[in-house]
Amino acid sequence: MKEIISNLDFNAELSCIECGANYPLSQILYRCSKVGCDGLLDIKHNLRALKRNSSQQWQSHLENRLKKTSLPFSSGVWSQKEWVLPQIKDEHIVSLGEGKTPLIPLSLWADDLDLAAVWLKQCGISSTGSFKDLGMTVLISHIKSLLAEGITIRAVVCASTGDTSAALAAYAAYAGIPSIVILPSNRISTAQLVQPITCNSLVLSLNTDFDGCMNIVKELTQNKDLYLANSMNPLRLEGQKTMGIEVLQQLDWEVPDWFIIPGGNLGNVSALVSGMSLLFELGLIKKLPRVCVAQSSQANPLYLSFQKKFQSYEAVSAKKTLASAIQIGDPVSYPRAIKALEKVNGVVEEASEEELANAAARVDRYGMFNDPHTGVALACLEKLRKKEVIQKDDSVVVVSTAHGLKFANSKTAYHEGKLELKAKYQNKALDLDANLETIQKSIEDIIS
Ligand SMILES: *Cc1c(COP(=O)(O)O)cnc(C)c1O
Repeated sequence: MKEIISNLDFNAELSCIECGANYPLSQILYRCSKVGCDGLLDIKHNLRALKRNSSQQWQSHLENRLKKTSLPFSSGVWSQKEWVLPQIKDEHIVSLGEGKTPLIPLSLWADDLDLAAVWLKQCGISSTGSFKDLGMTVLISHIKSLLAEGITIRAVVCASTGDTSAALAAYAAYAGIPSIVILPSNRISTAQLVQPITCNSLVLSLNTDFDGCMNIVKELTQNKDLYLANSMNPLRLEGQKTMGIEVLQQLDWEVPDWFIIPGGNLGNVSALVSGMSLLFELGLIKKLPRVCVAQSSQANPLYLSFQKKFQSYEAVSAKKTLASAIQIGDPVSYPRAIKALEKVNGVVEEASEEELANAAARVDRYGMFNDPHTGVALACLEKLRKKEVIQKDDSVVVVSTAHGLKFANSKTAYHEGKLELKAKYQNKALDLDANLETIQKSIEDIIS
């Protein structure tokens, strides 16, 4: 097989999703600066140059990269470097070995659902325990290259529902760049809060919700030497998009009928679709999978808009949910998400607290350890299957976005019966005397 032709034409630039204006990647810009536009920006690759390689060349190129054992190219993200940040110098890449996470077939659950196949993409098996690592490696690497060009950046800043701050803090600390994380107080798990603290971030806990924190970060980062690390910044999405591509590689380029992904700020759904579109353009896949965005009923602006066929959209005030990382009422990337879903005939489903907790617990019984956001996605699969939107012969990939260990408190509360919902799959530890007879009796009562 011929090696891929790799040359400097593989450039990427910023491009407005509304008016199409282009800007160099080295410009610090989060929204289109054309008068009256203010659109979100994407990263546009030179498809013509990329297409000079055949789909077979790209496949074998990726396969070779995946054989690497040392960083940065052993990273799942950087194995796709030409599709992510083609111009970056290798020495500026800041990687903690993200990506290359398992894609687990759940055949017992597929049987339960009367479904051809279902896989769980375990993105939470990662340095900071969520799929946010995929995007953060790209953002911090880009900053490192800007710093090398002599551009002044004093600190990187984000608003977060927990996972973004954990990822930002770790990657920034590893690169020796100061970070500031702005969190809504009392709304993130202890495991998430401790992560930026240990990395020595400046942690600001505010008496507002995520949307309030996000507004403050937008103001702060008007000052160009404080760099915005939220997914409004398309560099994050370039890394996130590698997840779907990796799934296709794991499925030997056999396209699943569906992806289901939990949605909060809504950057990830568009990243997923952009990865699929790239594979389609380059001829690695022959059709696009459909996508379902799974939202918590407590924070469901996209779901409500989908009910109106996306004819209108309104932000909501997000209410408390176990799926705290997606407790977002005014998602920055909703225009991206709507465009992405329209492209792939996508749908939006929602799940209540009881539905998400029971779905997570149900699939935990097959040896998984699901976080509540994945619970939302799992519940939405059950609902779409019941409605026959997802059909018997379909194959489905559910994106598991965080590690369940980050949410041990709420999972424990479920099994102790301490949540205000009907815990269908409760399994409480029995407190017994250390007495053989009582123990034998308990075993006999339970094990048939
Ligand atoms: C960020 C996050 C999401 C949602 O991703 P968005 O791009 O904000 O829609 C889902 N689950 C977890 C665990 C997350 O951290």
